[in-house]
Amino acid sequence: MKSELLLVLALSLCVSSKPLSERKTYNKLLLISFDGFRWDYDLDVDTPNLDQLVEEGVKAKYINPPAITMTSPSHFTTITGRWIEDHGVVHNLMFNVTTGLRLTHKATLKKSEWWDNGALPLWITAQNQGLKTASFFYPGGGANYSGQAVDRSLVGYHGQPYDNETDWRQNIDTVMGWFTKEDFDFVTLYYGEPDNVGHNEGPETPARRKIIEQIDRTIGYLREAIHKNGLTDHLNVILTSDHGMTTIKNATEVNEIKLSNYMNLLNLSRFDLLDYGGFGMITPKEGKEQEVYNALKNAHPNLKVYKKDEIPEHFHIGKHERIQPIVLLADLGFNINSKIILHINKGDHGFSNEEMDMKMFFRAFGPDFRNNFLAEPFDSVSIYPLMCKLLGVVPEANNGSLSDTKGMLVDVGGRIQVSFTLLLLMIVILTFI
Ligand SMILES: [Zn+2]
Repeated sequence: MKSELLLVLALSLCVSSKPLSERKTYNKLLLISFDGFRWDYDLDVDTPNLDQLVEEGVKAKYINPPAITMTSPSHFTTITGRWIEDHGVVHNLMFNVTTGLRLTHKATLKKSEWWDNGALPLWITAQNQGLKTASFFYPGGGANYSGQAVDRSLVGYHGQPYDNETDWRQNIDTVMGWFTKEDFDFVTLYYGEPDNVGHNEGPETPARRKIIEQIDRTIGYLREAIHKNGLTDHLNVILTSDHGMTTIKNATEVNEIKLSNYMNLLNLSRFDLLDYGGFGMITPKEGKEQEVYNALKNAHPNLKVYKKDEIPEHFHIGKHERIQPIVLLADLGFNINSKIILHINKGDHGFSNEEMDMKMFFRAFGPDFRNNFLAEPFDSVSIYPLMCKLLGVVPEANNGSLSDTKGMLVDVGGRIQVSFTLLLLMIVILTFI
């Protein structure tokens, strides 16, 4: 009798050990991006809610942004799983070398011609596989891809308040309603902080620590909202960002970079993207490429200069046609100024993705994530295959790897392990009956 009972128990436990990929229904997914949340921002602030997530979810020590550490390129890498040279969103500014047009990041948000370069973002792929998706202020969510729009899209606008805590909570309530009342499967939610404070005040300031406390309270509010809406067992959440932030060095401590000290921009340059942090591009006038290169190559000890075909392959930017013939990358904390040094930002990003100050934050929790799991650092391209796995979506071709992230999941191995623990417990109990 005991052995029969054991067999039935063992069989029932095996049935409950189905791997994620064989389930017919998948949990919903919320991706939240806090712009400019550097990987270590929670280490010098009291963050009880984020601390609780370490116990009740997954934390990566940090993750690596793509090589142009800017908002639009990095967000689009997360949502497509493609390197920048494959998705083509190479800058925050939309530009046209021929007409001289430059549009601000906000002004690009509905410009499909800037975003739609052949790499399909997850919203569209998921929709084509029968899911319902939405974007709340997430960069790229307001464009059309091969003529197709995201099912529901709210787009960021000039002058929108970044740090209003009441708005932040209302946005969470709105998203909860989309999941519960309208049965959305996948939602991306974007917050403009702590990037805004990082630029205006600098990353090592009380103002930045204060906004991290506000973000922590918002995470607490989110977890309560998930619980109140009955989504605890049905919604996975990924919290991440797009790049870090570093303090900008100024003339009192360093020799700042001003390109007009080394070359005549007016005579040699047809178009440029400069005065935008630590990354810049120059389109030389016809026949002037070598002259520009020679003028800048060894001009300043903290400035690296590449011809397009010299860009290191591991940057994964050089192949795209929007990358201009001369690419400039400054050392951490150095702005690339053209003719005037303005000192608008106290903090900035755009520097090498190998710098620790540029690394991104990553947390995750929900029914498909393990508890108390510390993940090794990985590239942000690998968030995409993780999201596809969670949603049961067949991914497009991408540069990410599920092997970077699958250890976070309550996978086949994890479930069987739990089942065997239960089995052992049963054997012990039955032995003593
Ligand atoms: Zn950003």
